[in-house]
Amino acid sequence: MFCPQCGSSDTQLVEGLCKTCFLKEFYLLKLESEIIVTLCTSCHSQIQEGKWKELGLPEEEIIYQALEENIHVSPMVENVEIELEIIHRRGSLADCRVIAKGVVFGEEITQEYKTTVRLNKTVCPDCSKIASGYYESVIQLRADNRPLYPEEIALADEIIAVNLNKLEKKNRMAYITQRTPMKEGMDYYIGSQKAAKKLINKLREQLGGLVKESPRLMGQDKSTGKGLYRTWISLRLPQFSIDDFIQYNDRLAQVKSLDSRKIIVRDLINQEKFSILWKDYANIKLIGHLEDIQKTTLTSKTPHSIQILHPTTFEPIDQEINPDYDKLSIGDEVDVLEIEGKIYIIL
Ligand SMILES: [Zn+2]
Ligand SMILES: [Zn+2]
Repeated sequence: MFCPQCGSSDTQLVEGLCKTCFLKEFYLLKLESEIIVTLCTSCHSQIQEGKWKELGLPEEEIIYQALEENIHVSPMVENVEIELEIIHRRGSLADCRVIAKGVVFGEEITQEYKTTVRLNKTVCPDCSKIASGYYESVIQLRADNRPLYPEEIALADEIIAVNLNKLEKKNRMAYITQRTPMKEGMDYYIGSQKAAKKLINKLREQLGGLVKESPRLMGQDKSTGKGLYRTWISLRLPQFSIDDFIQYNDRLAQVKSLDSRKIIVRDLINQEKFSILWKDYANIKLIGHLEDIQKTTLTSKTPHSIQILHPTTFEPIDQEINPDYDKLSIGDEVDVLEIEGKIYIIL
């Protein structure tokens, strides 16, 4: 067998040529003369495999990464070493050099390649949404039958700010585009509906309340043909606050704490704590505030009853003894609450 290119007949042929002729035409790697990278000028996310991906790398790294991804080394090469270099930047173009070293059929070969990386600079869909003030959800903070208290607004503002800060790291649409005081409360415009729902949960953990969602069809997504919804999520805080007095079914109680699931109260008669689920909120009636508490004096105590004076008329009132009254002694000042003409001792 002899090489059809040079006539040499002393070696084994590779793909029909002698080793020397084969290596003359052998490329260690394949590399296009131009590589196009589409990236967002605002957040540096890139289109990869047809999708926008949030990588946020500096431009130089984007160029090096584009080179790495577009170099295809021949499987015949062993001990490959590749050096990348940006030779020259002009506008959105970067002229690059790739030096490749490798061993093919026992021969060490070094080759130099040139390519241009073109940065196709545009604005990604997320950034254009952010720039246009786009929002998917409105959180409507309200209170039942009363205005919001300034402390509630301050706490809600803080919960929203702290949690958006965390959510934003994983979801670029977790931003607030508008905060609008309304006659009925406060509206927060949130970029992502998912983020808005997480915020609602965080708000409920600390403020309690009832949630109602109303999605509205806003149009159609031109690319998918699916309906575009915007969701209004209202969080209605309870009429009562911690320490207020309530009536629940036929029990009188003081509100001690609340969370996203329930309200914890203490019975005014037997002092027992019990909880009420938010779904039963409609059965709770606000009957008094901490400011309604009056002071009076314990005038007598027997094994079966205690006697106090009515805080305003000073008429003596007998009450059945209760283990919780053990710590009270004659002459003590006690807190009482008058509800519908009846006096309750508040411990
Ligand atoms: Zn040859
Ligand atoms: Zn972007």
